[in-house]
Amino acid sequence: MINLYGLEMQKLITLMEQEGQKPFRATQIYTWIYGHKVQNFDEMTDISKSFRETLKEKYCLTLPKIHTKQMSDDGTIKLLLNLDDNCQVECVLMRYHYGNAACISSQVGCNMGCTFCSSGILGKQRNLTAAEMMGQVLIFNRLLKEENKGQRVTHVTIMGTG
Ligand code: SF4
Repeated sequence: MINLYGLEMQKLITLMEQEGQKPFRATQIYTWIYGHKVQNFDEMTDISKSFRETLKEKYCLTLPKIHTKQMSDDGTIKLLLNLDDNCQVECVLMRYHYGNAACISSQVGCNMGCTFCSSGILGKQRNLTAAEMMGQVLIFNRLLKEENKGQRVTHVTIMGTG
């Protein structure tokens, strides 16, 4: 299955054309994913039911899973996430007067070997996929949406590993 998270628009257009769809189908899906933040093809109500079934058979919208969530008094949120292969990464959301800054991981493990840091013990294991990196931002957007203050991630910083 192809995870649609993290695909560039041109790649999504190409996929839709391979499915016999018009390019605008990619725009519709992008809008549902990133505008309406749905994670279920059945909610994409301007797409025909038959093509939604095709999407469900061949594609997915899979986010990393939250293993641990810590929140401090100033609203900072730190997450430990489980990836599909059971690797784990951390990411942090910080609140500033200018917006909500997400600090996301791009790798599992680290080769720098700083003796005080557990991320370096096993060395770098792999890079994250675009979907896994985008997933960290989308998870924070979902948590912000649940706070019901109409906020979203406004800034993203990419680190190696957390
Ligand atoms: S994650 Fe940072 S502190 Fe940890 S080993 Fe790598 S460079 Fe050092």
